[in-house]
Amino acid sequence: MQPLIDHARSFSRRSADRPDEFAPLAHGQSPQALFITCSDSRVIPSLITGARPGELFELRTAGNIVPPYAPGLPTSEAATIEYAVDVLGVRDIVVCGHSHCGAVGALVRREDLTAVPAVRDWLAHTTHESASAAWPAAYQDDPAVADAVRHHVLTQLLRLRSYPCVVRRRASGELRLHGWFYEVHTGTVLAHSQDTDSFTAL
Ligand code: ZN
Repeated sequence: MQPLIDHARSFSRRSADRPDEFAPLAHGQSPQALFITCSDSRVIPSLITGARPGELFELRTAGNIVPPYAPGLPTSEAATIEYAVDVLGVRDIVVCGHSHCGAVGALVRREDLTAVPAVRDWLAHTTHESASAAWPAAYQDDPAVADAVRHHVLTQLLRLRSYPCVVRRRASGELRLHGWFYEVHTGTVLAHSQDTDSFTAL
């Protein structure tokens, strides 16, 4: 932890020397996109996209899961998505899954999550639509769970399309959705093509 503290300390000093870069951020934000990805420490959205402060609104969840929209049941995820779409007016939403994802791996391999009940219940609550038992057996043999993650990303995009704010903005042609897959060991980013229904290089 100490290296992180040391960096934060020096970052504060260096930021104070660059008021032109940071001072305007006090007036608000106008991010280009909402970036939904996993909490995994190997996935750094600003590193992948080159986003500067104020350019990317982020939602990070275990397994980059977008929970089913449930009126009357407030969730942090729904609040973040609604704020990004209706208040900040983002024009694009990226759902970015990644290779070697622990959450997706646990689902595919049907791992015993008794020791981590919050993780178990989160995955069970949020993935009941795509029963893990239905996933191809071949998915279990891949340590990178690449195909499983790509399938999983598409499921989250389907969920997003049911959010009322997303429905409205897509109907008016003001919002685009993107499915990405990031390889943590190579830095490669693939994007889902609706035309071919496959993931190809950006
Ligand atoms: Zn993950």
